[in-house]
Amino acid sequence: MTWKLTKSEMDNQNLLLNESLLSLGNGYLGVRGNFEEGYKDTYNSIRGTYINAFHDEIEISYGEKLHGFPETQQKILNVIDGQTVEIYLDDELFTLYEGEVISFERNLHMDAGYTERIVHWKSPRGKEVKINFRRLISFVTRELFAIDVKIELLSQVQQVKIVSSVNGDVSNFVDKNDPRVASGHAKRLHVTEVRKEENFSIVKNRTYATKLEVACVVSSTVNSEEYKYESKTTDTSVEETYICEGKAIHFTKYNVYTDTLRHEDTVIEKAIAIQQQLKAATFEDLLIEQKEYLDNFWSTSDVIINGDMKLQEGIRFNLYQLLQSVGKDPVSNIAAKGLSGEGYEGHYFWDTEIYMFPVFLMTNPSIAKNLLLHRFSILDSARERAKEMGHKKGALFPWRTITGPESSAFFPAGTAQYHISADIAYSYIQYYLVTKEETFLRDYMAEVLFETARLWIDTGHMINDIFRIDSVTGPDEYSCIVNNNYYTNVMAKHNLLWAAKVYYRLKENDSNYLKQLSERLSLSEQEVNEWTVAGEKMYLPYDEKFKINAQDDSFLQKDRWDLENTPKDKFPLLLNYHPLTLYRYQVCKQADTILAHFLLEDEQNIETIENSYNYYEQITTHDSSLSSCVFSVMASKLGDKEKAYAYFKETARLDLENTHGNTKDGLHMANMGGTWLAIVFGFAGLRVKESGLFLAPSLPEEWDSLEFRLKYQDRLIKVSMERNALTYLLMEGEEMSLSHKGNIIYLQTGKEVKIP
Ligand code: BGC
Repeated sequence: MTWKLTKSEMDNQNLLLNESLLSLGNGYLGVRGNFEEGYKDTYNSIRGTYINAFHDEIEISYGEKLHGFPETQQKILNVIDGQTVEIYLDDELFTLYEGEVISFERNLHMDAGYTERIVHWKSPRGKEVKINFRRLISFVTRELFAIDVKIELLSQVQQVKIVSSVNGDVSNFVDKNDPRVASGHAKRLHVTEVRKEENFSIVKNRTYATKLEVACVVSSTVNSEEYKYESKTTDTSVEETYICEGKAIHFTKYNVYTDTLRHEDTVIEKAIAIQQQLKAATFEDLLIEQKEYLDNFWSTSDVIINGDMKLQEGIRFNLYQLLQSVGKDPVSNIAAKGLSGEGYEGHYFWDTEIYMFPVFLMTNPSIAKNLLLHRFSILDSARERAKEMGHKKGALFPWRTITGPESSAFFPAGTAQYHISADIAYSYIQYYLVTKEETFLRDYMAEVLFETARLWIDTGHMINDIFRIDSVTGPDEYSCIVNNNYYTNVMAKHNLLWAAKVYYRLKENDSNYLKQLSERLSLSEQEVNEWTVAGEKMYLPYDEKFKINAQDDSFLQKDRWDLENTPKDKFPLLLNYHPLTLYRYQVCKQADTILAHFLLEDEQNIETIENSYNYYEQITTHDSSLSSCVFSVMASKLGDKEKAYAYFKETARLDLENTHGNTKDGLHMANMGGTWLAIVFGFAGLRVKESGLFLAPSLPEEWDSLEFRLKYQDRLIKVSMERNALTYLLMEGEEMSLSHKGNIIYLQTGKEVKIP
């Protein structure tokens, strides 16, 4: 149950929303849930196919351009459209906008990895037909997007004509009025090759600036009593027509996408080779492979909630979409909207490290590792960016990017968010704690931590025996360019102290390697001492009056925004007030200090954490979808079950209910990760620390039970929370211990440990 998301109405008001919700992807390729046959002009749709990281570069035009502002911006592209399949019943075009829709249903099968659209339709001239469209994007052959159409005629029809095309004349979506969506440069691809070759329709496109190429090679099969075939090639597309006879017709289309980021210069040849390998595979065969892949995924990732079907659906949907979005090759990461839409232009943000990475880390560590390796692959860009920004040493990771260069044009809420470098360091440390992979520490983690530690030394400075970091922006984008943002400082502290720790660990265990690395980076032990001193003397703002951590040096001196009397239609505030207006008030877009208290809870005592929670909660709008989940986690920590549950509910169905109103531009991936965080780090109280695994489970009162699994140092642990008892089961791996509400529990393989 609840493995299926169903839309049983033909809902024109929510077409765009449903395109995002019913999008399919596999981390490489993504397609929005568009109708194969298209729409009527008056209904707008964003017809989109995306390849993770496949982008062009566009110039950023500034009124006043200052030193170090990025000149260009990367942008994910809507690539060649292989979705189109038109059906004519004796020359009457099947369209849901004419005739009568007798029944209609769309499903997303989250356990099986495909969508379907089942339509019973009567044409204006009375021809009746049932059509079942199914589509899948393969998790096994990442380049493949298949569409399967079964047509069952229910009245007399002489001929069914199927027109299937592949079209290279594509552009991106723009909205001039929403800063979260691109405002220009819609057309960035041009067609360089179109041809029909034996069994294949071939289109190749090239981007204007990056000169990246993408190919789509299409093959089709048709099953009917008899059919005639013809094809037509235009400058930008190939169209194939099948004129079929018979009562039941079965058509399958295999679109194979390749691109020069992954497949070298021979994209067409590579796509044809993949087509040839697929030759014998029917749609049913593909479904079998897909199911196997997903069974494996869910065996470590599923979260089972008993007691609320809607929330169960929410968490499964979110986990499924995370899997569909996460890049699984060295050139890709997870975009803020995954592969479901064009919002935030396919960029990777800190969303990855703080909100999505932990989910993979604890359920599928190899996927998590790939995300870290992607960051490692852009370390040189980050070093270059640090230089551009005037730093003598170190690496400054870009606020938003695809292949490394900073793509943020609005620096106060972009480049100034230096914390992203500490966030990346934090995720490296978490990975190490969860996997204890010493080779990873040596080959990747050391360099990333050293270079980010250097950034903090160069950004901050020591005065009156404290280390300060001035003029940066923390996670909360309603207060920009501040001094001593608590979140940034505490994360930088962690980064610095761990960098020193890793240095000394290597010195002890692998001194030859450390010597080589130090030479390559011109790193001296004196620098490492500076890291330790800066970390230890890091200034963490604390306010005596409120007994809270101040968000930054000036935050608590500002006037408070009158949230109570702000009209509802003025939210999100960022769309209705100039940034400076927002910066002058105590008002938060999202969790900031509260998030720091979650990530590094041992830095403060529980009173400060609680006071801070109560203080910031009053002034947080949650205008960012990255906020509610953090408040849920921390409400759980503070034992406020009611609030924890209420915030959790906000996150679990945020896209399904379109509560932020912009799901049409793509799904809110960070929030989707946040749902899992609210369950596992919130309700179950998980923390991963140097001293081990800590849990403090407390089942929400509304539920009968909750079950999930965790991967930890080559082990698989099942946690089952019921009303009267809690059970840990070590399903795989060697015996271990963990802390359960402060008590040490020993786990042996295959033996349940039940705690009343
Ligand atoms: C949030 C950022 C986030 C970005 C992309 C913004 O609205 O404030 O924290 O990184 O969206 O999701």
